[in-house]
Amino acid sequence: MRIFNFSAGPAVLPEPVLREAAAEMLDWHGSGMSVMEMSHRGKEFIGIADKAQSDLRTLLAIPNNYKVLFLQGGAIAENAIIPMNLLKEKSAADYVNTGEWSKKSIKEARKYCAVNVAASAEDKKFTYVPPQESWKLSKGAAYVHVCTNETIGGVEYHWTPDTGDVPLVADMSSHILSRAIDISRFGVIYGGAQKNVGPAGLTLVIVRDDLLDQALPITPSAFNWKEQAEADSMVNTPATYAIYIAGLVFEWLKGQGGVPAIEKQNIAKAALLYDFLDRSDFYSNPVRKEDRSRMNVPFRLRDESLDEAFLKGAKERGMVQLKGHRAVGGMRASIYNAMPVEGVRALVEYMGEFEKRHG
Ligand SMILES: *Cc1c(COP(=O)(O)O)cnc(C)c1O
Repeated sequence: MRIFNFSAGPAVLPEPVLREAAAEMLDWHGSGMSVMEMSHRGKEFIGIADKAQSDLRTLLAIPNNYKVLFLQGGAIAENAIIPMNLLKEKSAADYVNTGEWSKKSIKEARKYCAVNVAASAEDKKFTYVPPQESWKLSKGAAYVHVCTNETIGGVEYHWTPDTGDVPLVADMSSHILSRAIDISRFGVIYGGAQKNVGPAGLTLVIVRDDLLDQALPITPSAFNWKEQAEADSMVNTPATYAIYIAGLVFEWLKGQGGVPAIEKQNIAKAALLYDFLDRSDFYSNPVRKEDRSRMNVPFRLRDESLDEAFLKGAKERGMVQLKGHRAVGGMRASIYNAMPVEGVRALVEYMGEFEKRHG
């Protein structure tokens, strides 16, 4: 029996995708083998990877002057790979600090360059996105880095920063494909797949092609975007099975009506939960309303001694992974593309009953 899995990642995948993968496990399309067993250079797998890439390009309307790379190492590795690929003759970069994931990006970048924290939301415990008017961008920065959805704090950019000629680099791990974005406003977009795209092991990098010759000579080949772009992401063996599953997710998304249609569903799902939280004085969400994440909804119970009972009751009703991240405590419901609206309804219903019983 399937349960409602509110995990922040690895996270819920669409059930039809899992069923198709199961049906094709032993014999993919008459090949007599599983995708896991295929040569990454064989025509079957090349076809799978090409289709995944072209579907992703369609879904996100990725312009032709951007390369799509299927890499490994996750967003955390990419935090180091970004400065290595973009610094060239420069020695500094701007970072906006909106929470736990921004902090990790900053910490990693400091190993490679001077980091200017152009703005920080730490003054209010990372409950908002600092408006662009308050950013202090530096001259000569190689790029400006943002985390457009803070998975732990539940803070999301609902606008796109304007950094002029300086490339904007965005960690979109936990909301890529949840909403329409104008790719052309970004220099680099990256994310681990395991939140909203597919299994862990695959990292998506979307990079504007004029940024492909900015790498430091020390950059490892497997992490050099230009080398990877020229080799169709096959400098090393890519995460073949993860790419295949991501491809099935992209097909599923197209079947749902694409990104604009899923965005509508995501708005509705998030509204269900936030409206409930705002009507209640038993539960609360600390994030400024305009900056609330549609994907990750942290919330607290008025009396935290009830946390364990809340989680236990949720589990009994088939709802799991609601415990908040240790950095912020409380609860967190991650409601990615693949979380059906029924899951959010079931959660809200349970929360209402729990409040009646304990409020
Ligand atoms: C999960 C997450 C990461 C970490 O990704 P890894 O794949 O574990 O490296 C980084 N940034 C954000 C915003 C995330 O949600």
